[in-house]
Amino acid sequence: MSSPNIDGRAGERSKALFADAQRSIPGGVNSPVRAFAAVGGEPPFIKQARGCELVTEDGATLVDYVGTWGPAILGHAHPEVVEAVCQAARDGLSFGAATAAEVEFAERICGLVPSMVGGMVRLVSSGTEATMSALRLARGFTGRNKIIKCEGGYHGHADMLLVAAGSGAATLGIPGSAGVPADAVRDTVLVPFNDLDAVGAAFEANADEIAAIIIEPVAGNMGCVPPRPGYLEGLRQLCDQHGAVLIFDEVMTGFRVALGGAQARYGVIPDLTCLGKIVGGGMPVGAYGGRRDIMEKVAPLGPVYQAGTLSGNPLSVAAGLTTLRILEQEEPHEALEAATTTLCAGLAERAAKHGIAWTGTQVGPMFSGFFRSGEVWNYEDAKGSDLERFARWHTEMLARGVYLAPSQFEAGFFSTAHDAAAVQRTLDAAD
Ligand code: PLP
Repeated sequence: MSSPNIDGRAGERSKALFADAQRSIPGGVNSPVRAFAAVGGEPPFIKQARGCELVTEDGATLVDYVGTWGPAILGHAHPEVVEAVCQAARDGLSFGAATAAEVEFAERICGLVPSMVGGMVRLVSSGTEATMSALRLARGFTGRNKIIKCEGGYHGHADMLLVAAGSGAATLGIPGSAGVPADAVRDTVLVPFNDLDAVGAAFEANADEIAAIIIEPVAGNMGCVPPRPGYLEGLRQLCDQHGAVLIFDEVMTGFRVALGGAQARYGVIPDLTCLGKIVGGGMPVGAYGGRRDIMEKVAPLGPVYQAGTLSGNPLSVAAGLTTLRILEQEEPHEALEAATTTLCAGLAERAAKHGIAWTGTQVGPMFSGFFRSGEVWNYEDAKGSDLERFARWHTEMLARGVYLAPSQFEAGFFSTAHDAAAVQRTLDAAD
């Protein structure tokens, strides 16, 4: 029997598809990082995904650590999730009207996310919508305009948040964006991640003007960067002191770094939480919610307007609800973390063996490896990685059957479908 094809670099078919794609889609992709601009070469086109593996149009089978950029915590095409979506589809794709399933979904979310216990949640269709809406709400609630965000933090592509943004914006070197009016970002105050003094100074410099801090409690869009001990607690204190709303953007960390997200893991409860990715189980869902007195300002209860044609659509709700139910029943987080630690320790060991400067980071089943020595606590540290070496690493891992995010400024994601064989395959490739 011939051994399976594991060379994931674009073959003839992917190259041809990419050439075709570039005629009708900007850059050939529907989200910029997918174009592999930072790592070079053409992207493999994906035909199928099952468990922890992707199958490319060129017939290669790859171990996947992108996990559709975070949602796939149960692996791809989990049979129960797929079945729930199929069942829902047979009853109608979207009604634009209230459903029983969305009530069950909202209650399950509110039961799992500490800041939403006793509060409320509103479903939207993406993480970007969730953060955009949460900030409008915080501004409406406080009657203030300014917001604080971190350099290298990514909260989606709304105008006011495209300043020193991480993720694809950082990857392409356009952390601001053409088309964003200066006025749209005038009220966005930037601070370095993990620097409480800078946040304190921002409050002093903008007394009684800050509506909210929006933060990824574990940064994931400058690569994975954990909060320093006491940092999140300090943000909580500063927000209380200055009457500002603390917003945790848990689009990436929600249901991932713990069942209750980073707020459960670190025991710091924000006023509002934004969700996306896992909450949709692979379908387009976002959500924002939290304190009842704040959420009561959302229309039709209150004066803060926010709406969506496909919000709470039955297919997305079915995927999300089933995913959360499985996570709650199976409680996989401890095992996921342990397996991710094995992977990360193995990668660090291989790097050391070959004399490669390497700083690994990990929070639960979320991880990164930076090609530098010394600690990584913020965007400046992350940018100190040898990006040329990262590009080579990415290409060579792909050639050996391991699909990593094509940017240093993205996190890796482990799933319940990654087994010991997948980890060993990854470590052999790294070696
Ligand atoms: N917030 C965070 C922390 C994210 O990582 C992302 C996307 O990667 C977003 C918001 C935006 O979510 P979406 O791409 O669903 O609009």
